[in-house]
Amino acid sequence: MKEKECCSICSKKTDDGLYLLRIYICQACEKEMIQTSADDPKYQFFIEQMNKAHRTMIYS
Ligand SMILES: [Zn+2]
Repeated sequence: MKEKECCSICSKKTDDGLYLLRIYICQACEKEMIQTSADDPKYQFFIEQMNKAHRTMIYS
């Protein structure tokens, strides 16, 4: 049995996600990120979550 990974954006446990810049992201978030334009405030949220995940990865 494969252990489920936790999405770095929505923290949902899923096994259908993928690694984006070594950060695990579920399919739903990946789709949303692609559809969100860079001037959308939501886009900033995605970037923030990814930066946070990156920092956690480096210092853990
Ligand atoms: Zn997600």
